[in-house]
Amino acid sequence: MDQQISALLSQAHSVALVSHIRPDGDAIGSLLGMGLALLHAGKKVQMVLQDGLPEKYNFLPGSELVQRRIESPFDTLIVVDCSDLERTGVILQGQNQPDLVIDHHKTNRDFGRINYVEPQAVATAAILAEKFPVWGLEVDEEVASCLLTGILGDTIGFRTTNMNPNALRIAADLMEKGADLATIYQKTLLSRSIAELRYWGQGLINIRYEDGLLWTTLTLDDRIKAAYPENDDADLINLLSSAADFFVVVLFIEQADGRVKVSWRSTEGIDVSQVAFEFGGGGHAAAAGADIVGSLDKVVELVLSKTKKLLGDRRVN
Ligand code: AMP
Ligand code: MN
Ligand code: MN
Repeated sequence: MDQQISALLSQAHSVALVSHIRPDGDAIGSLLGMGLALLHAGKKVQMVLQDGLPEKYNFLPGSELVQRRIESPFDTLIVVDCSDLERTGVILQGQNQPDLVIDHHKTNRDFGRINYVEPQAVATAAILAEKFPVWGLEVDEEVASCLLTGILGDTIGFRTTNMNPNALRIAADLMEKGADLATIYQKTLLSRSIAELRYWGQGLINIRYEDGLLWTTLTLDDRIKAAYPENDDADLINLLSSAADFFVVVLFIEQADGRVKVSWRSTEGIDVSQVAFEFGGGGHAAAAGADIVGSLDKVVELVLSKTKKLLGDRRVN
């Protein structure tokens, strides 16, 4: 497969590069890292995110190049950090099948012509960091900064249970190439806008807890009250996951398009990716998500009942 990918990349003249809606650090880091590596190799590149780039990532090299739709013809279509086509939004409607999909979700639907999917990888950006030299792309300082952002994002700063020595080695290599760990950590994981904090407050007020299942909701109204400009959870799920004594945390975020974004997080031994998959979403054993059509109340009811089934008769002492 490495040979196939090297050939695809070396033959490409003009690349459209896409990742998922409500982009997280890995979607952004992988998109920018790969986009810059291809640009530095002399290709024409369009880096496309339907929802654009959240402001806190504006310090990253290449951030000013991100566009919200495909604007000109291209010969090669690459999707990163995305387990299914729908999660790219509407930007690929009417386009041919992607030439290459690079991802680490165990629920990946193999929707590309070539699918490079490594479920044990901590981030798509970690796959790219390892594979760029094999595929003939250079990891320079700019590329390294973007890729380290992706790894930090998906591991919440190296603290998820899937962290492993190899991932730390990859991160160390990226630091040696010039990526500034402290700055990236501060800007993408630690620093919070007042709006984000207010938005968290709305979610924290509504917390519910029953037998190891912790959940809360964020409505469109909560978003307006907090003046929070994005349509994601502002990483509230990571704060909720710091609770003691839970098996599964579920966060429900009402969306303007008649859907509800659901995020699951679980403690070790409970695989939430399957429940998410049943609702048309996907993810990893310990972190999964889905975009579900329906009113907030209905989705909450349905999702909680399925999630309780997954927990069976586990009880917190
Ligand atoms: P999130 O809850 O959005 O932080 O996502 C947790 C994990 O599930 C990440 O690996 C996401 O890429 C994945 N995920 C979230 N939403 C979806 C979705 N609608 N479809 C497929 N995978 C998703
Ligand atoms: Mn992602
Ligand atoms: Mn990822």
